[in-house]
Amino acid sequence: MADKGITTIGRCYGCKRTFGYDPERVTMFLVDSDTAVSPGSQPTPEALTRSRQEPVCPDCVRRGRHARQDDGPTWPRGTA
Ligand SMILES: [Zn+2]
Repeated sequence: MADKGITTIGRCYGCKRTFGYDPERVTMFLVDSDTAVSPGSQPTPEALTRSRQEPVCPDCVRRGRHARQDDGPTWPRGTA
């Protein structure tokens, strides 16, 4: 059964829908609770302290992957 590992219910960070997931396999997104966005690839210690892991549902993971593929070559990396 595909549902075998689903032991946790949470709210998707992307679309806010409630879904069941396997905490060992779900995609988690680090969110700064002050700004409600990711603290980025080089977060400050303060941002990390405020941050929490939010689960992302499979639909949003797929959408995110698709978006990343679309603008992959021009993805702005290390603009600092
Ligand atoms: Zn979602």
